[in-house]
Amino acid sequence: MKKALTVLTVISLAAAMMLAAVAAQTAEAAKSAAKPPTTREMALLCWQEFGELVPARIETVLVPFGSLEPHGVIPNGTDSLAPEAMARDIAARVDALIAPTLNYGLTDAMKAFPGAVSIPGETYAPFAEAVLDNLAANGFKNVIVLNGHGGNTTALNAAATRVANARRVRVLVVNWWTLADDITKAVFKQNGGHAGNNETAYVQAFLPEHVHPERYKEEMASPNAPAGAYYAVPVASTILLYEKGQGAPTFDAGQAKEYFRKVNDRVAELILDTVKKWDLAGVYK
Ligand SMILES: [Zn+2]
Repeated sequence: MKKALTVLTVISLAAAMMLAAVAAQTAEAAKSAAKPPTTREMALLCWQEFGELVPARIETVLVPFGSLEPHGVIPNGTDSLAPEAMARDIAARVDALIAPTLNYGLTDAMKAFPGAVSIPGETYAPFAEAVLDNLAANGFKNVIVLNGHGGNTTALNAAATRVANARRVRVLVVNWWTLADDITKAVFKQNGGHAGNNETAYVQAFLPEHVHPERYKEEMASPNAPAGAYYAVPVASTILLYEKGQGAPTFDAGQAKEYFRKVNDRVAELILDTVKKWDLAGVYK
C-alpha cells in the first residue's frame, strides 16, 4: 500500500511539473507574441527570431523590386531606393517584415546610359518568381511586391499569378507612381513623369543630398510617345513626361515631404484594405 502511494505521489508530482512547464511555455509564447520584432528587415533577423515571428505573429512581407537606370538628376538606383524607403516607412503600419530589395531589373531601352544594368527577361522572370515562391514557402500569407520600375511590371504580374495559385498565398503588386496618379496631380497641379516632378520629389524627401538641381536643364526632358507613334532605343531622354509640357522636377523640399507622406499613406491604405478583403472573402486563408 505504502509503495503504491509513493508511486502515485511520484506520478502526480511528475504531472504537476509537466503542467507547470507547459504553463511556463505558454506564458513565454504569449510574451514573445506581444514583443515587437527586434527589426522588420528580414536580412537583419536571425533565423531563430524569424521562425518565431512567421507565420505565428507576422503574415505579411513587403518586397521592393527596382532597377539600375538613369533618372534625370536623381540616383540611378531610384527605382530600388524609392520602394525601399516606402517599405521602411509603412512596415509597422501594415505589420509586415521587409524582404531584401531586388536592385536590378529589366531596362533594355536605357542600358546605353552610364551606370545602367539590365537583366535579360529570360533570366529576370524566373529569378523574380523564385524570390516570391520562397517567401511564400517561408510562411508568409500576404506577399506585397513594392515595384519601383515600370519595365518590371509584366514579369512581376505573371510571377505573382503563378506563385499565388501554386502556393495558395495572396500576392499584391503595387506600381506606386500609377497608384499615386491623383496625388501627383493634386500636389504639383500637373501630371508627372519618369524622373519627373513625382519621382524626383519622392527621392528628395529622404535623400536630398543625392538630388542634383544644378545639373537639371529643361531640354533634358521629353514627352512620352503617344501610343504606337514612335519607339526609340536607347530612349532619347531619361526624364520622360507622361504629358507634353507637364511633369518637370520642382526641387521643392516642402512638396517633396508632402508627396512622400501622401504616397506612403495611399500604399499602406491599399495594402490594409486588400488584406482585409482577402480575409473577408476567406481566399487562401
Ligand atoms: Zn524610375
